[in-house]
Amino acid sequence: MRAMGRIQPSTLLTEVQGIGPRFLDKLKKLKIETVKDLLWHFPTRYEDYSQIYKIADLQPNQNATIQGIIKDVGGRRTWRRRLFIVEALVSDDSGSIRAVWFNQPYIRNILRPGRTANFSGKITTGEDEIYLSNPVYELIDIGQQETKHTGRIVPIYPETRGLTSKGLRYLIKPILGAGIKPPETIPQEILKRESLPEINIAIRDVHFPPSLDKALIAKKRFAFEDLFFLQLYNLLERLKLSKEKAVSVTTDIEEIRKLTSALTFELTSTQKKSLWEILQDIGKPHPMNRLLQGDVGSGKTIVAAIAAITAGRLGYQTAFMAPTEILARQHYQTLTNLFQNFEGGIALLTSSEARVSYGHNLETVLKKPSLIKEIADGKVKIAVGTHALIQKNVTFPKLVLVVVDEQHRFGVKQRQSLLVYSKTQDSQKFLPHFLSMSATPIPRTLSLTLFGDLDLSLITELPKNRRPIITKVVAPVNREKAYAFIHGQIKKGRQAFVVCPRIEPDQEPGVANSQQELSKLELKSVKEEYEKLSKKVFPDLSVVMLHGKMKAKEKENIMRDFSEEKIDILVSTSVIEVGVDIPNAVIMMIEGADRFGLAQLYQFRGRVGRGKHQSFCFLFTDSSAKATHQRLKSIVEAKNGLELAEKDLAIRGPGEFLGTGQTGIPDLAMKALQNPGLVQSAREAATKILEKDSSLKNYPLLAENLERFRKEIHRE
Ligand code: ADP
Ligand code: MG
Repeated sequence: MRAMGRIQPSTLLTEVQGIGPRFLDKLKKLKIETVKDLLWHFPTRYEDYSQIYKIADLQPNQNATIQGIIKDVGGRRTWRRRLFIVEALVSDDSGSIRAVWFNQPYIRNILRPGRTANFSGKITTGEDEIYLSNPVYELIDIGQQETKHTGRIVPIYPETRGLTSKGLRYLIKPILGAGIKPPETIPQEILKRESLPEINIAIRDVHFPPSLDKALIAKKRFAFEDLFFLQLYNLLERLKLSKEKAVSVTTDIEEIRKLTSALTFELTSTQKKSLWEILQDIGKPHPMNRLLQGDVGSGKTIVAAIAAITAGRLGYQTAFMAPTEILARQHYQTLTNLFQNFEGGIALLTSSEARVSYGHNLETVLKKPSLIKEIADGKVKIAVGTHALIQKNVTFPKLVLVVVDEQHRFGVKQRQSLLVYSKTQDSQKFLPHFLSMSATPIPRTLSLTLFGDLDLSLITELPKNRRPIITKVVAPVNREKAYAFIHGQIKKGRQAFVVCPRIEPDQEPGVANSQQELSKLELKSVKEEYEKLSKKVFPDLSVVMLHGKMKAKEKENIMRDFSEEKIDILVSTSVIEVGVDIPNAVIMMIEGADRFGLAQLYQFRGRVGRGKHQSFCFLFTDSSAKATHQRLKSIVEAKNGLELAEKDLAIRGPGEFLGTGQTGIPDLAMKALQNPGLVQSAREAATKILEKDSSLKNYPLLAENLERFRKEIHRE
């Protein structure tokens, strides 16, 4: 037995006796450095070895545990297969059985004849008798009560390069046995209401559960805990914001009516509803914090733009931020085209451009410092731009609205850097209203988790003038025909997007799991596709590739060339520029379509079908499985991306839905998806606590843990 001394959750593992340097190294690689880190490294599943069988009762192919006395142990090398085999003969009072291990010669030195041991593993049929193949073994001391690896439900941990489940059990069991007591983090009243175990029981049961039910409920407790803290955090952020002041931007309904009827199209009903929600919010004296979500092409820009114009008319400023230069330019052009009578000044500021328009097609190209000065003087009412807008030298004296397009492309810090106080004469401090926009469809459970501090406006339909995109699932036999068709379309002057297959991380640990490894593979796949299309399939057309490894500037240039029709076919990975409007591109061709989520395919398809020509989407798949074709066909009937996202979630489960970590959706989201009911109850629990005690004065431990949680999620 190792001496555990007095250990605390915060004790460093280097100070715990009996953990060798080799172990410490491996643990450190997993960022496990304290006792708490170790105890919070949870198993992914369990193996039920709880029943101990009599040797005479064993049946072939079953998984079982036996307990017996080691009668004999020996090792030999097979000269043919160059394997080292260790064999032990084990007997109990009902009979005896052989146990066999391959290439673990050291086992000879552990399993001494005469010792009692447990063996858990698969009962395998040999030439003329059954034997235990590669069983887990555990020596039993006289009088020993509890086992770690056998004769119980044993935890199986995510195995990472050399750190085995056996090793982890060996470390964790004695620490739990040393009576360590992590402090409770959830108020008792909530634990009771939710029927969840308290922390000390849960931490024991999550590692060494007396039954599988107990393991599940322990895991549920920890999932609840995370979701509860997240909801507390979300609700407190809301509360904080509701105490802040903002300039109330009042809308004149008549003005809005005039503005919208001057447009060349009618707003869809959910565009109107979203606009109304936004205008209501910015009319309040507290800052808005709202997410506008709608499929690619659903017309989010115009909705945000009308809010910006409304504020501009009253002399206030809006900062409109886009993730790329080409998108910023597109928004700027949209605004100046749609609102030619607006004389308040609409500007474009990126690292390579500075221009301003004071209405009636009067555009001036400026030097950057001059534009920055016009913004600082409050002359420019709407400044569209990239990160250039958040440079220190750019100031907005009358900023009331910040719009961030494709919000997921910015970090928290970048998103928030425009949210600074402005002061008026009576030295009151005001925060601007905040609107972010996203085309990523997020099922409700998830949005409540990820964006619980935001209000949500949804645009759920596409403008009426869109022609349905003809969508075909293409099997290998029809590939040539599809190529010929695409060729014909391009010869008529149209353009095409090609998206390469998604690269999936290999199941084998350590083979292709790192992001670096993946992006290397992805690059290879784009290059191969590009070679094939440019040399073999369409040698007479201009084919260009685009991928994540390119510099931002390089990508911008390619997108610009594509939008100026200098390129016929753009081959890229799934991370191509979203949001760019290219009406002449009428073909979206997706290789390995079955590897993408439905919602993602739907988003790709949304890049075409913007112009006056008929558009097409080809979903190439090598799979002949009926289910695959069925699934892909559901794109054809789908009403919107959100519906598909929810459907995909139901068909493929959260793991598949969230993809390979490319989405960057954190672990918490996963928990939310796996436990939709838990999100709701976590939110209710958090609401109840805050209703009683919004400053958490009576819950000092909770407040402290929340602070820790806050730091964790801001460390992005
Ligand atoms: P997204 O939501 O992807 O950002 P955009 O705002 O770029 O979409 O809009 C896509 C295109 O649809 C733009 O050219 C825009 O002018 C046009 N549009 C927006 N709303 C409507 C509508 N109600 N009817 C017709 N066209 C619209
Ligand atoms: Mg957009």
